[in-house]
Amino acid sequence: MRVRGCVPRLCRLSFDFNPGGSVYSQGKFHVPEMRKSKFVKLKLRHASFISRALLSTGHPVLAHLIPMRRCNLACGYCNEYDHTSSPVPLDTVKRRLDKLADLGTSIVTISGGEPMMHPDLDEIIHHIRHRGMIAGLISNGYYFTPERIKRLNKAGLEHLQISIDNVEPDAVSRKSLRVLDKKLRYLSEYADFHVNINSVIGGGIKDPEDALAVARRAVELKFSTTVGVIHDSDGTLKPLSSKEKDVFQQVKKLGNKDHARLNWFQDSIAEGKPYNWRCRAGARYLYICEDGLVHWCSQQRGYPGIRLEDYTMADFDREYKTEKWCAPTCTLQCVHQVGILDNWRDPQQAPGLPTPESSLKDTIHKVLSAE
Ligand code: SF4
Ligand code: SF4
Repeated sequence: MRVRGCVPRLCRLSFDFNPGGSVYSQGKFHVPEMRKSKFVKLKLRHASFISRALLSTGHPVLAHLIPMRRCNLACGYCNEYDHTSSPVPLDTVKRRLDKLADLGTSIVTISGGEPMMHPDLDEIIHHIRHRGMIAGLISNGYYFTPERIKRLNKAGLEHLQISIDNVEPDAVSRKSLRVLDKKLRYLSEYADFHVNINSVIGGGIKDPEDALAVARRAVELKFSTTVGVIHDSDGTLKPLSSKEKDVFQQVKKLGNKDHARLNWFQDSIAEGKPYNWRCRAGARYLYICEDGLVHWCSQQRGYPGIRLEDYTMADFDREYKTEKWCAPTCTLQCVHQVGILDNWRDPQQAPGLPTPESSLKDTIHKVLSAE
């Protein structure tokens, strides 16, 4: 099957809804007391946000906000960075966060580009927490030093995700274990926030064994670990090779078991088969670009393309009910996880088709007219 649209950028694939599930809760490792108590609080906050999301469909669960499109790297598969743009001014970012809080958003994940290049990142994180939302960050890991990690602790960061593509840097990606290992050791020593390391299989990644090496190192350093299955580099959905499937199963076993349970869709993608689900992008999941526009997601930028400040519950409701043409082949883990909350309710309609209510009304009208 051919995928219309782009290959997802590897560092944007996942968001760990159940932080550290297997790593911490199975008591495999020693975890410092302060981190343990923060971790328990975070789990409780997650539980309360999930209950709220199950009880009501009327608010966003997760928003990705881009305050910085510029990146220090240039990964060969990525369509989400430049090398020239300026950071979005702090006041503008704060206004966007206020709007997300007013919409009732539970979790805000700061993404990019490389958000660690934003000069006011600490204030941005602080503002997310100040407005009662969970604060997450997705980074390529290059800028972590002990001092910088301590500042993020202080700002109130709760989640960090780093995606590592290979063991040795190559022409496609320098998000490599050998380059980042020192940064991971700093995080292991100083971070008070939850750290998830995502590895990747498929999509033309040269050596699938690299994903296993990345996952093993993550577990060794007491981080949680997830794995993303992605499309081939030309956007084609095709089954993983038997070697890739074998590595995929091994990495899944090392990772957060709750996370693996939330990612059933990956088994279909690994087999090269489409997956049937309801994507709630534009409603329960929002992607806010550097210009402040709401998009379905990083891979479907342009629609609905409405300014966040003008986004209303009418927009939210329309997108909640809209069936996304790209859903069967979608590999964006975080949006799948948000979708699970509502998969059992509220069927969707393809854009342009009448809603079930209006078609029922039309039918009744036609019957009455005929009578
Ligand atoms: S590190 Fe930069 S270039 Fe690489 S995938 Fe992330 S945003 Fe794109
Ligand atoms: S299914 Fe949803 S998350 Fe996936 S690409 Fe389409 S709009 Fe984006």
